[in-house]
Amino acid sequence: MRLVFLGPPGAGKGTQAARLGAHLGIPPLSTGDILRAAVAEGSALGARVDSIMQAGELVPDDLMTEVIVNRLAEPVCAPGFILDGFPRTIPQAEALEAALGGKGIPLDGVLELRVSESILTTRLLGRGEQQGRADDNAETIRNRLRVYGEQTAALVPFYESRGLLRSVAGETTPDEVFSALQAATASFSAGAA
Ligand code: AMP
Repeated sequence: MRLVFLGPPGAGKGTQAARLGAHLGIPPLSTGDILRAAVAEGSALGARVDSIMQAGELVPDDLMTEVIVNRLAEPVCAPGFILDGFPRTIPQAEALEAALGGKGIPLDGVLELRVSESILTTRLLGRGEQQGRADDNAETIRNRLRVYGEQTAALVPFYESRGLLRSVAGETTPDEVFSALQAATASFSAGAA
């Protein structure tokens, strides 16, 4: 199965993508994790994206698309994948559609996690304290949520118009969210998307 997780920072995409990936036997691919690893390694990619990430801005579409298209070509993604954090803009979504369409392996579905902004902010501040992520501070959180509204939220109607979108309430318990995601995924595999 080829899936995309959509939702603002703090919605629970990383946690749920890991769990659903383990359940379905497909790898979760987090662009945030890929970029953080590049920064930690001190690679050329890491040097390019470090200050962008700290400001809570988006890495340029071309660069991001290249990173993810290369990753999707790896054998580990042959059975499918769950994208977490990509696409984040309409041009990224179009590039993904073109890359997968060109190989005859389109997306099966898109899962949106919906969480209110006040809960997102509380969760992200808590994560910053626990994990020390550089971009989980009040100022950058505000910017990331603004960037989501301005550049990423447009992907909801984009995928809805393709009949690919399922929206799930992300404010209940992690187990309840996981059950709702499993049900939504079953509707994709049944060809009902
Ligand atoms: P995340 O862990 O998904 O919240 O991503 C952390 C940061 O990585 C974001 O705030 C962006 O700076 C950058 N990033 C991750 N994925 C993308 C993407 N698809 N496009 C542009 N920037 C991204």
